[in-house]
Amino acid sequence: MTTPLLPGHPHLAYRATPSGQDLYLEGVRLADLARAHGTPLFVYSRQAMLDALAAYQRGLASRLAQGKALICYALKANSSLAILQLFARAGCGFDIVSGGELERVLAAGGDPARIIFSGVGKTRAEMRQALNAGNGAGIGCFNVESEAELDVLNEVATGQGKVAPVSIRVNPDVDAKTHPYISTGLKGNKFGIAHERAVAVYQHAARLRGLKVVGIDCHIGSQITEERPYLDALERVLDLVEAIEAAGIPLRHIDLGGGLGIDYHGDTPPAADALWHKLLARLDARGHGAKAIYIEPGRSLVGNAGVCLTEVLYLKPGEQKNFCIVDAAMNDLPRPAMYEAYHQIVPLAPRTSAQAGGTVSQLNYEVVGPVCESGDWLGHDRVLAVQAGDHLAVLSAGAYCMSMASNYNTRGRAAEVLVQGEQATVIRRRESAADSFRHDILL
Ligand SMILES: *Cc1c(COP(=O)(O)O)cnc(C)c1O
Repeated sequence: MTTPLLPGHPHLAYRATPSGQDLYLEGVRLADLARAHGTPLFVYSRQAMLDALAAYQRGLASRLAQGKALICYALKANSSLAILQLFARAGCGFDIVSGGELERVLAAGGDPARIIFSGVGKTRAEMRQALNAGNGAGIGCFNVESEAELDVLNEVATGQGKVAPVSIRVNPDVDAKTHPYISTGLKGNKFGIAHERAVAVYQHAARLRGLKVVGIDCHIGSQITEERPYLDALERVLDLVEAIEAAGIPLRHIDLGGGLGIDYHGDTPPAADALWHKLLARLDARGHGAKAIYIEPGRSLVGNAGVCLTEVLYLKPGEQKNFCIVDAAMNDLPRPAMYEAYHQIVPLAPRTSAQAGGTVSQLNYEVVGPVCESGDWLGHDRVLAVQAGDHLAVLSAGAYCMSMASNYNTRGRAAEVLVQGEQATVIRRRESAADSFRHDILL
């Protein structure tokens, strides 16, 4: 018997067993993976990722059918090679933010022509690398973020005897109504070019012979849970498209970035298909039906496809707070420490109320990791009936967790497993301590 899916977490469900309940991701019992591979352990559902992608594909279906849409997975959300491979095989392009990410995409079999390169601080070396990718054919587009970057890219491209395809990231100055650290489309943000400067900057770009203007882009923030900021940004960007084209500079594509949120804890972001139906209708209504549409989703493709499994090491009751110390920490799951983010934390095998009323009491816990920082917490005020040796799952751990993980406290980064039906495949081995000091040099 299967109980309903956990809300917002496709393919994650408790199944009844003779002794109680067990948490499954697709057809795999997570407790078995924790035992087989150790913890902390990231586990991802292949189907959840493909379903999330399918929602975008439905929303953009009319343009995709004409070859006029490109879904560029923003791999900084989760850059494991097997995940990139999965999206490449599903027809995705990629939004990269470094030369390292370019190498990852190529190593995973991604198509260089479907790569767009974002970021405020591209180096000359990274520009050369991107211009020469794909046996010299180069990547699909550079999303340029400043006037100074335009001039440098022009110089580098000219030096390589190439013409760099460019889009300019404009700042539509709309409030994405998200956490200040992940809001990027407001004035006073380091990203993009101010709305008022855009036409002049495009005119400048059009005069540089090492560049070819192909598009316009924006990205207004992350974990956006309303459709309004997207609709507002689209109107602002289309105003610019019309002004830029009136100045004699045609644009082939419009890139509306990523940023769609996921349900971490009762969040209700719009569905990707409904949102894109609406946005495409506005594009058509304003006469831009012939333009190609690019998008750059990250979190919404992978966030709720993943969980991080962890083991309870110690319970430490206190006068003011009870601590539940687990073996995953801020180096594995940096979002709580970094953004005060909320991740649900649930037991892999919840105790029945009879069991919980017996030797194991239900208490309010601070769930914390072993790292020597007070900021190393995973959840505040969590009601749990646990004891040492129990396993927990930290939910919504598919995005901005493993890709942000570090070796702080010389903790090796966790292993990763991808599940498909009843099959589980290790897609990244656990790092050893020796891995983490491999590049150190003794005196
Ligand atoms: C981070 C980023 C994205 C992806 O954002 P999500 O919130 O993960 O969808 C897309 N485009 C750019 C330019 C980014 O920096």
